[in-house]
Amino acid sequence: MLLLAILFLAPAYYVLKARGYSPPIFLWPTILVTGALWLFQLFGEEWILRNAPALGIATGLPSILLLGLSYTLPKRKGAPGMSIEFPCPHCKQVIKFGRQFEGLAQQCPKCEEIVSVPSQTTTAEKK
Ligand SMILES: [Zn+2]
Repeated sequence: MLLLAILFLAPAYYVLKARGYSPPIFLWPTILVTGALWLFQLFGEEWILRNAPALGIATGLPSILLLGLSYTLPKRKGAPGMSIEFPCPHCKQVIKFGRQFEGLAQQCPKCEEIVSVPSQTTTAEKK
């Protein structure tokens, strides 16, 4: 069941990433819940052992739910692969950065001044 959970987590990770979400935020709670359920099964009290088959199914459930959730989430603006374009505040030329630089200070490739890359949503609103 733990293997099954991992099997569902991997596609969920890529779906979340493709939709512009940060996968660890979703993955860690799922992994923790799955791990806790799995440990309960291993070292559980007698009543837990009696209910082990149900818990076994429960171990796989969080990751299955996460996969389902990741498919229903709307694609976030500025998903990876998209770049952020904005005019440099120093030289006024339109410069382009990958989404991974969102909110970070970067060097303008045109005038080499330090600029902070705005988030995708703010540039979209300004247009
Ligand atoms: Zn510049």
